[in-house]
Parts: sequence; C-alpha cells; structure tokens
Amino acid sequence: MYINPDFQFNENLIKAASEALDKCKAQFEEAEEICNYNAQKVLSAFVKNKVSESHFAATTGYGYSDRGREVLDAVYADIFKAESALVRHFMLSGTHALTVALFGILRPNDVMLSVVGKPYDTLDGVIGIGGKGKGEGTLADFGVIYKQVDLTAEETVDFKALAKALEEKPKMVYIQRSRGYDTRASLTIDVIEQIVKVTREISPESIVFVDNCYGAFVEKREPLEVGADIIIGSLIKNCGGGEALCGGYIAGKHELVELCSYRLTCPGIGGEIGASLGQNMNMFKGIYMAPKIVLEAVKTAIFTSQFYTDLGYACSPKPNEKRTDIVQQVIMNTPVGLIEFCRGIQELSPIDSYAAPEPYDMPGYDSEVIMAAGTFISGSSIELSADGPVRAPYTVYMQGGTQFDNSAIAVINSAQKLIKAGELRL
Ligand SMILES: *Cc1c(COP(=O)(O)O)cnc(C)c1O
Repeated sequence: MYINPDFQFNENLIKAASEALDKCKAQFEEAEEICNYNAQKVLSAFVKNKVSESHFAATTGYGYSDRGREVLDAVYADIFKAESALVRHFMLSGTHALTVALFGILRPNDVMLSVVGKPYDTLDGVIGIGGKGKGEGTLADFGVIYKQVDLTAEETVDFKALAKALEEKPKMVYIQRSRGYDTRASLTIDVIEQIVKVTREISPESIVFVDNCYGAFVEKREPLEVGADIIIGSLIKNCGGGEALCGGYIAGKHELVELCSYRLTCPGIGGEIGASLGQNMNMFKGIYMAPKIVLEAVKTAIFTSQFYTDLGYACSPKPNEKRTDIVQQVIMNTPVGLIEFCRGIQELSPIDSYAAPEPYDMPGYDSEVIMAAGTFISGSSIELSADGPVRAPYTVYMQGGTQFDNSAIAVINSAQKLIKAGELRL
C-alpha cells in the first residue's frame, strides 16, 4: 500500500492498514461484481430512453415540456423497475422527499405502521411522533395515526408482532432500509422481501413504502423488485453519484407517484411543471456514475470495518457481513475517541481540511453531535463523512467516499489521530 510521506503516518499503522487491505480482497470482488451488474442496468436504461445532449438544456419559468425532466423520470423508473418516477432538484433533501410522499399518500384517519421501530430522527417532526412539531402541520395534525412495531431484543424485525399489527389493515407499511442513527442492522433486500410477503398475506391492500436512503445500488435488487410499492431517496446520497447538487427521487406504482407529484406541486398539475434550471445534466450524470461511486463508498466501509476490527474496535457491519447500505459504525468507547476519529477524517478530506470539527447542540438530538464532512457538495453524505452523538458508547457513523483510495487514507488518519491523543497504542 503506497502512502505519501507528507502524511507522516506511524510505520506500524501503515503495516496494519496494508494487512487490513489484503484481507478485504474477497469482499471487494463481491462488491465489484454488484457494481458491474448495476452499472449495466443503468446503461441499459440510458440507451432504452435515448438520453441525448438536448435533454440537458435548461428550462425556466413553469418548465412546461421539459424533455430532460421527463426522460430522467423514465430512466429512474427503468432502473428501479417502477411504473413511474419523480426526480427533482427541488426536492431539497431526503427528509423533504419522504415528507412529500407521506403527505401525498396518507389521508386523515389512515394508519401509518412503521415496522422497524421509530423512523429516522428528522421524521419525528414530520409525523408528529411524541407531539413533536404539533401545530406545524405534521401528519398527526391532519389526523394520520402513527403506529410502530418495535424491534426484538436482538434488534431484528419482530415478525410475530408485525403479523398482529397487520391484522388492523394499516394504510401504509413503512420500512426504513438503512439503520440511520440506530444500532440495529440495516434491512437487506431479502428481509424486505419477507416483510412484503407477510404484508401481502395478511393485509394485501397496505401500501409498502420504503425509505431507500443510503441503500441504492448496494445490492443487485432494489425494494420494488421484491414487491414494495414505492421507494424514496436523496440525490446527495447514493443516486446523485456525487454529481447532483441537490434533489430527491420517488419511484413506484404510477398512481402513488402521481399523488406525490400533486403534493410536490399542485393537485391537477403534478409533475407537468418544474423548471430544471440547468440541473438535468448533473442529475443524469449522477445516476450514471452512481453504481461506481457507491462501490467506492462500500469499499471504504469494508476497509474501515476490517482496519478498525483489527485495531480492537467493535464494528457494525462486521468486515465480512453482507451489506445493504453504505453506513459503517465503529464504537469508539470514549468521547475523545469519537472526536479524534471525526477530526482525522476531516483533516484528510479534499475540502476544509484545515477545519477541526467540534461537538455542538443540534435541534432534534438530546446530546451534542460532532460532524466531519470535507465535501464538495455541502452536507453530501455520498462523499466521505463521519458523525455521531457524543454519548456512550460514542459510536461513529461513517459513510460515503467517492474515491476509495483517498477515503482509505483519511480513515488511516483517523487512527493516527487516536495514537496522537493517546487513545490507541500500536
Ligand atoms: C439521510 C437519511 C434520511 C434523511 O435525509 P436528509 O437528506 O438528511 O434529509 C432519511 N432516512 C434515512 C435512512 C437516511 O439515511
């Protein structure tokens, strides 16, 4: 493993990193094979839909008849095996895209059943969980009833409790594929398939809704292929390939995507308006690049897991575990460990390398949070980023990395910082 002497890494650390990298070979090969499969899936969708340079032309104002916008939707629909898709730079984040979809589909007195415990933190104030956001126009304010099936003691899907909850025939079965800031494992497509199967047996009319953030292109199959009805994600994560400047996507059954489009713009108008303002090329290029960029992120996660496991830290997923998203957890055990890990990532990131992240109070969290993100696109988490709440067991959540080679160097630097801080001895 070549290391530029500028970085002044500890010799033993370089040796440990080289050994870890050697052990990753089989996992890398498997990830490369998945990338190859997904890249051709994307290419095929581009060819089938005759993507052309003219589709990159900017529209302004209402954006009527923006051919690029229509073709981009069709490309996403083909990639994800959807009847329809809605891909827009003016869905501003993953949370916004999820909000558009939830409000688009749910009506007063409908039951939304979350099947893997509580959804991602930012959705508390959207759904109105625990009275959060009351009066701000949450789903609860509009009479949508939220229920959840908690995980088992082993933090797996509680299929028994799920079967019982499904007897009430909820309008929506809500599945979050990625762990988010949770300790549970992310849901593989196989597990999502099982959830769909149980749902179809007991409550066939329920809409199976999947938060696909961080998940796209990590496996060969996507949730719609195993029977989910609708998927939602962010373009500053996997599907934007590090190229889309912002945005979100929704894909699935035609009638559901149509309802989402009415909520995004206006009933009766839906996806027919929305100027692309010159963002089409970034979004086309992003989805084209995505399988390879996701591979880089997955390789970064595998390497981090192997390297830190060898250094004696508990990691999830484990180095050889099957992956379904790009998130890697390392349990740092001490506040200093968590902070120094994040600082090490920031210090060898391409942007703002000179900045040292500090823990701070963030809305929605009951403890301070530290975040490292030396990214080209602000807040992009398909680019290498690491963060975590400053509370026991001081777990760092790391994801992204658009170039494995450089991301691995930043990860080695995080351990170098631990050595300097006296947290790690080699
Ligand atoms: C990131 C994420 C979200 C929210 O996306 P933002 O772009 O941060 O609003 C929702 N769900 C999951 C699982 C995520 O990883």
